[in-house]
Amino acid sequence: MTYVVFSDIDGTLIDFQTYAVDEVATAVAQLIAAHIPLILCSSKTRAEQQYYRDLLHIADPFIVENGSAIFVPQRYFPWAAGGRLLDGYEVLELGIDVTHIRAALAAVRAATGITFQTYADLSVAEVSQITGLDRVAAARAQQREYSATIVTPLTPPMLQTLRAALAAYGLMLVSGGKFHTVTSAQSDKGTAVTHLTQLFQRHFGDVTTIGLGDSANDAPLLAAVDRPYLVQKPGGIWQDMGDLAVNRVTAVGPAGWRQVVMALAPPASNLRHH
Ligand SMILES: [Mg+2]
Repeated sequence: MTYVVFSDIDGTLIDFQTYAVDEVATAVAQLIAAHIPLILCSSKTRAEQQYYRDLLHIADPFIVENGSAIFVPQRYFPWAAGGRLLDGYEVLELGIDVTHIRAALAAVRAATGITFQTYADLSVAEVSQITGLDRVAAARAQQREYSATIVTPLTPPMLQTLRAALAAYGLMLVSGGKFHTVTSAQSDKGTAVTHLTQLFQRHFGDVTTIGLGDSANDAPLLAAVDRPYLVQKPGGIWQDMGDLAVNRVTAVGPAGWRQVVMALAPPASNLRHH
């Protein structure tokens, strides 16, 4: 039996406020030493996730933009994973290409008369200002390949109108705290996790999947794994996950992540005996 770990990034793997990875670095190294795949699965872009993969020396496949695409490093599996080749990856696309999303948004703007701006309409400096990210990180966040982020405040009636108009293009609009994200209505984290799990099963045979998340948008991820873990949000509270059965971890974000992963992978010093 082989473990495969699927993990959200913001507020789960990395600190919600500081974006620091210090707390999980040792636990990630233990996973790598134990040859347990660590699959990042987040609303973040490929460019943003590559930054964290490089920082933590992770070489496994990853799932971008809320399940819109799976990036599998070429030759990661001994057979072709499928999808198109791009920058050393086999890319399994479950979402809709951003060029189609932008065209739909232009049509919806014209049809509804609702004016709004997305990341793509802003400069790096403007995205940096509204997100609090530094300019390099803001530029990575802007490189969306399968989604658009609407930054203009919208009233509930406007949202209702936009949702209906976007549905005709196969798109959905999900409201975050501050911004709204437009993606394919068909893709979510869970679909991508299930697809990638099947590839790991083909490779390893028996696989036990672990999922880690902190928010409502992790529900599909947690529902798709054998062992779902919900870490706490700042302040020591858990997201209400409705009827979904999850293991509640009694620690905030990366501290909880470390607890779960340390229990899976033995410390590196023990590995020498195997
Ligand atoms: Mg999160």
